[in-house]
Amino acid sequence: MNNVELKTCPICGEDFEPTGCNQTYCSRKCFKAQYNATVKESDFPYYICAECGQKCKLNFFPKKNILGWKDFECPNCGFKRDKNTELS
Ligand SMILES: [Zn+2]
Ligand SMILES: [Zn+2]
Repeated sequence: MNNVELKTCPICGEDFEPTGCNQTYCSRKCFKAQYNATVKESDFPYYICAECGQKCKLNFFPKKNILGWKDFECPNCGFKRDKNTELS
């Protein structure tokens, strides 16, 4: 007997059979689509290079992308970020 209630994906509008009780989106693709929509570019922090003083906007969140942040280099002069560089 199949008593699974169909849900409607808020992104693409398709009905789908949820595989988990918390599933809101029909697929990972739709999940990602809404995630990308909630992350606003304007929320990314600024980085000021200790070498050249260039202020640039990051395209990721340092706290969520630890590896990318660890290896971050100044896009202007290529200077590798000092561990102690503060974000503004
Ligand atoms: Zn969908
Ligand atoms: Zn620089």
